Amino acid sequence: MSKLPKPFVERLENQFGKPAADAISAAFKEQRRPTLRVNALKASDEEVMGLMREDGIQFERIRGIPHAMAVKNRSSSELLESYLAQQGSIYLQGIASMLAPLALDPRPGETVLDLCAAPGSKTTQMAAMMEGKGRIVAVEEDEVRFQKLQNTAWMQGAKMVTPRQADGTLVHHEEPEAYDRVLLDAPCSAEGRISLRDARSYSFWSPKNIAIHAKLQRRLLRSAARTLKPGGTLVYSTCTLAPEENEGMMKWFLGEFPEFAPVEFDLPVSSVRRPGKGMIIALPTKEHEGAFIAKLQKRR
Ligand code: SAM
Repeated sequence: MSKLPKPFVERLENQFGKPAADAISAAFKEQRRPTLRVNALKASDEEVMGLMREDGIQFERIRGIPHAMAVKNRSSSELLESYLAQQGSIYLQGIASMLAPLALDPRPGETVLDLCAAPGSKTTQMAAMMEGKGRIVAVEEDEVRFQKLQNTAWMQGAKMVTPRQADGTLVHHEEPEAYDRVLLDAPCSAEGRISLRDARSYSFWSPKNIAIHAKLQRRLLRSAARTLKPGGTLVYSTCTLAPEENEGMMKWFLGEFPEFAPVEFDLPVSSVRRPGKGMIIALPTKEHEGAFIAKLQKRR
């Protein structure tokens, strides 16, 4: 197995302390079990569990995350080829990816904006949470990824999703104060997804890469803030641990948009840090990758 960049390890130690940094580095070595979400728009947990048992698939429910299960005796690619995945009754999704929609907590009938949506994991999770009622506008800039998003929404039967190929930094011009809830799952330096089994997951790591992402995140956050209705809820999430893109970004945001206030929330994962009010870092573990989630409310 290859080695992580030294400056990255030093940053982790400064940020979290040596024991936690060592635990994070150990988590980067893990081969995690595949996890899935039963797509409640198409099937019930009971139906899917019955069919998995018939196929000899061993699984266990993930505590605290509705419809989520970890599979013990199949690989991700085997599950992707399964009938259940092919017809959209299950969707393969990591635990860390399921957290931001839980924090946003969209309700049936609401109007939701997903500003960086492809491939649509969180979009379709939210569609299921909303029982297919209401509207989700799912924005993605990249053409190839946009096609994946369209395909995911179609496979999952998420008819209330309107996929839109657009630059998320500009959406607020057309739709100011239009949404009850906004998810900004921003492009990021992806430190939480590092795997020592795949050198590509960290070969691009650099402070410059972090700064480039932070610049785009600020532009996306400005747009997200303006598309929200007064009283609306914003969740900002990344899959990185870099403070410049996470708690540092929230400090900037609250200075720039004083009409927002952080909202406290909980998540069903054990290894967490709370770098400030309304913010949670899920540290990478044996079970899941790392993620940062912040929840804010716009004043009425
Ligand atoms: N939320 C997605 C999910 O759960 O499946 C993952 C989103 S991924 C972290 C970030 C996405 O933002 C990428 O698909 C990227 O192409 C897209 N993106 C980057 N810049 C964008 C922009 N200016 N406007 C809209 N999407 C953008």
